Amino acid sequence: MINLYSDTQTRPTDAMRAAMAAAEVGDEQRREDPTVIALEERVAELLGQEAAVFLPSGTMCNAISVRLHIRPGGDEMLIGEDAHPLVAEAGGPASISGAVMTVLPSDAGRPGIFGAGAVRNAIGGSSPGGNRYAPRPRLLSVEQTVNLGGGLIWPAQQMLEVLDVAAEHGLRTHLDGARLMNAVVASGVTASDYAEPFDTAWIDFTKGLGAPVGACLAGSRELISEAWRYKQMWGGAMRQAGVIAAAGLYALDHHVDRLADDHANARRLAEGLAEIDGITIDPATVETNIVVFGVAEADAFCAALEAEGVRMGTLGDDRVRAVTHLDVDADGIDRALAVARKVAAA
Ligand SMILES: *Cc1c(COP(=O)(O)O)cnc(C)c1O
Repeated sequence: MINLYSDTQTRPTDAMRAAMAAAEVGDEQRREDPTVIALEERVAELLGQEAAVFLPSGTMCNAISVRLHIRPGGDEMLIGEDAHPLVAEAGGPASISGAVMTVLPSDAGRPGIFGAGAVRNAIGGSSPGGNRYAPRPRLLSVEQTVNLGGGLIWPAQQMLEVLDVAAEHGLRTHLDGARLMNAVVASGVTASDYAEPFDTAWIDFTKGLGAPVGACLAGSRELISEAWRYKQMWGGAMRQAGVIAAAGLYALDHHVDRLADDHANARRLAEGLAEIDGITIDPATVETNIVVFGVAEADAFCAALEAEGVRMGTLGDDRVRAVTHLDVDADGIDRALAVARKVAAA
């Protein structure tokens, strides 16, 4: 099977498993696991933040962050089109934290990426305390890279512009960096240049980095110490978690630079797909490891691919998403293209 369903489909490599087996461990929730502590310190430094906390998932990083920033009483979270907390976290921000989520309009042809003007318009005249009719704008959330936008990279300058508007209005800011390291490798901008200006920011180890479990949320010492309350409350505090944290450390050492291979493979896939009749994609829009293309009857198309040993995922009736990662090489891409050609012709 050439599995392009998601970069979450990777298996830990033998070398990663060896690092996990050799990990020094202790009781993580008593702060006695040296490997977890090493990973947290590493991520705090990487993201230009004071502190970090290891969590079981990226979803919990988002959930805790929203809980930290959103207060009871109609606080509003400004968020991009199809962002993960909006479409893939079971309504958590509303259910757990009472957030009103307002979707910001995207830049033309750049789903999930929005400009300073869109943020300003959404905030409107309702400066905090100024308009008792509107929800209170409180949090701006940015996703880097934009997952359902096809792995698009937020340009650093545009990010700073929207953060400036948030700062003018006293909003908290959050960076969903599930695939931040893909943006770092593709753009050459450092992780701390992207993440440092945010109140909270996190990276996932289970996407392109190829680890089996875990994500790390970073912020000020004060916010991370408060995050620990929710980690405990929601059952995210662990015991000998160094075994999984070791996979995160291994990934930061060995699986970051190689993301460039995933990006080259995604471009190779997009260029091949663009030549197939019945498939629509502009390869120039593929900036990292996610390829989204148009095809009629996406469900039937994916079922036919799967029958031939190639897995991709649908996004609605007429779009398909393919994601490259460390378990698929250039030969795998060429074989996937051969199957896509055959299926499209049929
Ligand atoms: C995968 C993902 C998440 C959630 O991370 P999990 O580790 O799967 O819980 C959040 N945001 C984005 C953009 C993602 O792609």
